[in-house]
Amino acid sequence: MSDTLMHTYARLPVSFVRGEGAWLYDDQGTAYLDALSGIAVCGLGHAHPAIGAALSDQAATLLHTSNLYHIPLQERLGDRLCAIARMDRVFFGNSGAEANEAAIKLARLHGHQRGIDLPEIVVMENSFHGRTLATLSATGNRKVQAGFEPLVRGFVRAPYDDIDALRTIAANRPNVVAVLVEPIQGEGGIRIPSETYLPALRALCDEFGWLLMLDEIQTGMGRAGRWFAHQLSGIRPDVMTVAKALGNGVPIGACLARGHAAEVLGPGNHGSTFGGNPLACRAAEAVIETIETQGLVERAAALGTHLLDALRERLAGLPGVVAIRGCGLLLGIELDRPCGALVQQALERHLLINVTAGNVIRLLPPLVLDDIQANTLVTTLCELIEDFLATSPEIAQA
Ligand SMILES: *Cc1c(COP(=O)(O)O)cnc(C)c1O
Repeated sequence: MSDTLMHTYARLPVSFVRGEGAWLYDDQGTAYLDALSGIAVCGLGHAHPAIGAALSDQAATLLHTSNLYHIPLQERLGDRLCAIARMDRVFFGNSGAEANEAAIKLARLHGHQRGIDLPEIVVMENSFHGRTLATLSATGNRKVQAGFEPLVRGFVRAPYDDIDALRTIAANRPNVVAVLVEPIQGEGGIRIPSETYLPALRALCDEFGWLLMLDEIQTGMGRAGRWFAHQLSGIRPDVMTVAKALGNGVPIGACLARGHAAEVLGPGNHGSTFGGNPLACRAAEAVIETIETQGLVERAAALGTHLLDALRERLAGLPGVVAIRGCGLLLGIELDRPCGALVQQALERHLLINVTAGNVIRLLPPLVLDDIQANTLVTTLCELIEDFLATSPEIAQA
């Protein structure tokens, strides 16, 4: 095995060489049920024929020109994305972190345009916004930041789902210009805020002239049972970032904005060589088209309810299970003890899951998961959890 790759990942001992829908096949031909979708990326599953066809056609036609020229596919995708998101304008990059970088720059420039020289952005505890210097500084996880100081300045930390804490910040920090928040915290453990949180946050932002910036990188593109998770609460953000599932595996990210926020960035303020190139835009257009024609947003909602009910029926009340929560196909099972070992145990049973925040089993299955696969997922996972809880001692939480 090669050792030329930097040791940035603790990889599981498996190599996938082929996929089909919710199945991945390793180099021995063994099938694994994918309940993670490459961390919320492959919403349409693997090797979706519509995506493959669009990509091979585009690859044979035109891969890249430059943002020095008009890119009709980028404009078409922009129209389509703004329509489903109910936003006015979009900037395309290549990843989630880049989408958030664009949002952070937009917020700072908005501050400067209003005469605030050292603008601040409120960010949350246990949040995740990426691994670039600005986005790791915005991230509420010391593990992501440690060793990379000095951090980027201009972020103010607040507890999640706590509107009173934001009121205190509003009363004390006149340089705040924006809030950057996940509508559901993904890496933080599938934390779903109370129903009143986003509406109250919207009202607070309006009161203090802050931009409400939602990181929908993990929650967007149908996964939450709506195109975007915030649509469940009826509010609209000023800025929203999207990436992961937008290209179903082709790297693309987007920073969308509405109203005044859509006019902040001007010529020369921001750019990207690859961002919004014809190949990536063709992929994202095919993703939106496929989600629409196959009714996958509704499917995510229905399947999510089914999975949540089935998991609760089997696991609720089991000693060691603290909470079972979900919104569409973002599902979390919180245990009373660290459970990272479950990932390897699931792999041995040919099931791909993830554990985040130490003790939360995270499921992000593809939107194309069928009913039989859903039942296999529940049965296999519940057996695993029962075995795990029966054999691993409870370790007191710090
Ligand atoms: C994955 C993720 C990011 C970072 O996206 P990258 O494409 O890895 O840079 C940012 N925010 C959230 C909420 C994410 O889940």
